[in-house]
Amino acid sequence: MNRESEALDALRVIIDPDLGRDIVSLGFVKNLAGLDDGRVRFTLELTTPACPIKEQFRTQCVEALRALPWVKSVDVTLSAAARPRPPSPSGNGLEGVGTILAVSSCKGGVGKSTVAVNLAYTLAGLGSRVGLFDADIFGPSLPTMVSPAETEVYARGNRIQPLVYEGVKLMSFGFAAPQGGPAIMRGPMVSQVLDQLLTQTEWGELDHLVVDMPPGTGDIQLTLMQRVPVSAAVIVTTPQKLSFVDVVKGIQMFDKLRVPVVAVVENMSWYDCPGCGTRHRPFGAGARERLVNQFGIRTAVDLPIREEISTWSDGGRPVVLAEPEGPAAAAFRELGAAVVREVSRLRHGAGAPPAVSWEPGRGIVVAPTDGAASVVSPALLRRACSCALCVDERTGEKKLDPATVPEAVEPTHIEPMGNYAVAIHWSDGHTSSIYPYDTLAALAE
Ligand code: ADP
Repeated sequence: MNRESEALDALRVIIDPDLGRDIVSLGFVKNLAGLDDGRVRFTLELTTPACPIKEQFRTQCVEALRALPWVKSVDVTLSAAARPRPPSPSGNGLEGVGTILAVSSCKGGVGKSTVAVNLAYTLAGLGSRVGLFDADIFGPSLPTMVSPAETEVYARGNRIQPLVYEGVKLMSFGFAAPQGGPAIMRGPMVSQVLDQLLTQTEWGELDHLVVDMPPGTGDIQLTLMQRVPVSAAVIVTTPQKLSFVDVVKGIQMFDKLRVPVVAVVENMSWYDCPGCGTRHRPFGAGARERLVNQFGIRTAVDLPIREEISTWSDGGRPVVLAEPEGPAAAAFRELGAAVVREVSRLRHGAGAPPAVSWEPGRGIVVAPTDGAASVVSPALLRRACSCALCVDERTGEKKLDPATVPEAVEPTHIEPMGNYAVAIHWSDGHTSSIYPYDTLAALAE
């Protein structure tokens, strides 16, 4: 075996935990050199500069190669891949933008802007080039949450120059037209103004552009997302009773547009009592578990209620910058790492959903893109339905009597929901079943 093959084989033991494949077959190892004199050097090209385990990768590479008898030294240069998706139409300020992340909520006041701003600065802190667009025309909040030294917006050529604060490029209607709110604008006008401000801002080369969406799931949101190539969405909610319904609405909107929801943030979900040290959940347990079980959203992060989050926001400095070692920053780091991980899975097709089909006489066939197909019995799947009609929303108790499901029940319609689940209509008239792929796989076994 030649030295190149030996080196690559040694590196093959290093598995990317998120993508489940080794770094060689993922194509991360580039420009391998120094094989003749044993002073090996190469570039490890990761999916994002914000990769949370890049140093761990470096150490593993050094250890793996050092085990070869002819290797004298190992030098690993870390870099990030070029833009992952087809660029936006040229002549547009989004041309150099890698991923566009929409941060959305069904209602106002749940902390969507707080999450968007802190997520942007967290991603920047992890090493990414980041932009932040405040798409809320009626209540732009970015101008109060950050304090750029220069607040005047000007154009160069036909491009609007973004403001910059602590390395993150910023744009908001609140910066572009600080004097007047467009209270009387109608939907189509709002969409047009937003579209212009977003696509004509000179964002330059960015790894991530975080878009703080207007609250709700109406026409303005739909239009905005049809016009810009949103890569992934983060939904923000609070754990009150109604919020599960809200989240489902949000998931359905992104689903229509085929935008994968990579994380759900349950904001203001708990606080630690300074007196007794007990963790309280004033609004109850929230919907995390149900989101995972019912929709297969893999990342659900809950954020604490912390006075400093709002104090710093109101004072023009995101809490992750003001108190980088504090508990709020730690919670946002968890979110940032999860978002980076999920986006990188999507890029590598690791999230590509299996094909689900009905084969009479055989069963419901679940065929993953890279593995053997498995089969689920329709009656078993129908009885395992966990929709609101079959399982009590609040208590989680089963409402469906399995005996009422005919043994010969069949699917009449199967439709994928985003990257995470499949919706099935049944011959017994039941049309609200949704099964995450993980559930299908578990039942197939
Ligand atoms: P939205 O964008 O959903 O309308 P905001 O991000 O503007 O909501 O947040 C509403 C208010 O709640 C703000 O004053 C903000 O500082 C505060 N807030 C948001 N999240 C938290 C939190 N986890 N702890 C304490 N205050 C918070």
